[in-house]
Amino acid sequence: MSETKTYDFVIIGSGIGGLECAHILASEGNSVIVLEKNHQIGGNLQVFSRDKCIFDTGVHYIGSLNEGECLNQFFKYFDLLDTLKWKRMDDDCFDMIRFADGKEYKFGQGYDQFKKNLKADFPNEHKAIDTYCTKLQEICEMFPLYNLKNSQAENYLMDEELLSANAADYISSITEDKRLRAVLAGNNPLYAGVESKSPLYVHALISNSYIQGSYRLRDGGSQIAKRLTKSIRGFGGEVVKRAKVVGANYNDNKHIEEVVLENGDTIKGKNFISNVHPAVSIDIFGEKRFLKAYRNRVRGLENTISTFIVHLVFKKDSFKQLNYNIYQHNDENVWSGADYNDENWPKNFFISTPATSKSDEFAESMSIMGYMKYDDVKQWATSSNTIASPGERGDGYEEFKREKEEKIIQKLEAIYPDIRSKIKSVHSSSPLTFRDYIGDTEGSLYGILKDSNYPLRSLINSNTKVPNLYFTGQNLILHGILGATIGAFVTCFNFIDKDYLLNKINSIK
Ligand SMILES: Cc1cc2nc3c(=O)[nH]c(=O)nc-3n(C[C@H](O)[C@H](O)[C@H](O)COP(=O)(O)OP(=O)(O)OC[C@H]3O[C@@H](n4cnc5c(N)ncnc54)[C@H](O)[C@@H]3O)c2cc1C
Repeated sequence: MSETKTYDFVIIGSGIGGLECAHILASEGNSVIVLEKNHQIGGNLQVFSRDKCIFDTGVHYIGSLNEGECLNQFFKYFDLLDTLKWKRMDDDCFDMIRFADGKEYKFGQGYDQFKKNLKADFPNEHKAIDTYCTKLQEICEMFPLYNLKNSQAENYLMDEELLSANAADYISSITEDKRLRAVLAGNNPLYAGVESKSPLYVHALISNSYIQGSYRLRDGGSQIAKRLTKSIRGFGGEVVKRAKVVGANYNDNKHIEEVVLENGDTIKGKNFISNVHPAVSIDIFGEKRFLKAYRNRVRGLENTISTFIVHLVFKKDSFKQLNYNIYQHNDENVWSGADYNDENWPKNFFISTPATSKSDEFAESMSIMGYMKYDDVKQWATSSNTIASPGERGDGYEEFKREKEEKIIQKLEAIYPDIRSKIKSVHSSSPLTFRDYIGDTEGSLYGILKDSNYPLRSLINSNTKVPNLYFTGQNLILHGILGATIGAFVTCFNFIDKDYLLNKINSIK
């Protein structure tokens, strides 16, 4: 890191979007530096270890990885396919939707298997299942980058009807069967779904991507960040940890000249790309630099709810590996998970057993994720605790966590009655953990909530009013590894010819 050098690109944040932008731009001969506030790169790709088990913070499985699917091709371009330890999830069931009555519904990989499973469970609903699958695929066809195409890559932005269709309404329109409706929407925690707001296109892009190739990464998602960093450095780029950006200095032409780090250092650049939540980016780059209407819109956008995650370490060889995830719904309204109270929390939760290279038969650990509002931990909001900036939250917070961990374990016992005897140790993360490690304001799961009632309002442009400031990351187009990857390309198309780049990606065998 040099204080005297002027970099072509200064990237703030090393989430997957920031790293991928750095990779694309550095590989085209630009000088690039990524500045990350944490001790570990990767944002939501970060891992942590307890009792020698590696836990992911924000990646449990990744879709669209079948040959020919977009993330498969993007990951070939980033050299992330052959170099990492991918594990395909079960063809017959990559996701299980499960209800309080014990009934289990399996989502199979590929549309043939997906339909076959559901048709066996709902013999009178073949037409609705076919209609649903056709609709998902039709919607996905309308997003050119999702299909590695360059036909006016953002033309979906003009399609009001597409963007304003609501997921819950659509699912209700194709079947009267309440259980089938619940099953089809049962994976909505993938986008922190809100019944009256979540768009059908978000449901379609995400559901389709998992149907088209669901994989886990053995030994943690941080390998993606490490591999990207290695490539960036190979192209001459720099990735710097413990470098929190707190402000920016401008020249007379209203261009950013340099960013200011927490320790007072300054880094000069020609262009700046922020991988940080847009509302937080406005604070960093100075609110007066943005139009009031824009500031108010971005700050007024609702974020997706946060989460409380329990991480269990199992005694050796005691719990069989689940090569699928479970979405457990204890309320028949699968959209109502955020509507909880002290008694019924968590109303729904997600279960995943991370893949390791040690054993395919037994799980080392399990993560269980339930929704949690930031308000539930607000009394400790003034505390902050990361490895880069350690702090204490106090005994009250620890007690709160123990109580929530116990509630989740009790709910797990309804599924696995003997699970308690298999647990070696229990750990957890709260909305404050996500807030502190990712740097948004309330530990939101997936950033800005997409709203079918105001579809364009919740989409963020990669360009800003500041002439040399750009955005990237999950808040641009779509969250998730796939969404942030598409966002990275959209940001880089400001600098690199779209046809050239897409041809380059598509030509990789
Ligand atoms: C619990 C959870 C589970 C998830 N599961 C999945 C899954 O199974 N599959 C999937 O595809 N997606 C999943 N996601 C979503 C996915 O992880 C994210 O959408 C994606 O990783 C976001 O990437 P990003 O590029 O927006 O950057 P982020 O991951 O948001 O990273 C932003 C980075 O900016 C840094 N930063 C912030 N402020 C500053 C500053 N001032 N100076 C310097 N650096 C700063 C942060 O420290 C962070 O490293 C999950 C998310 C969560 C929270």
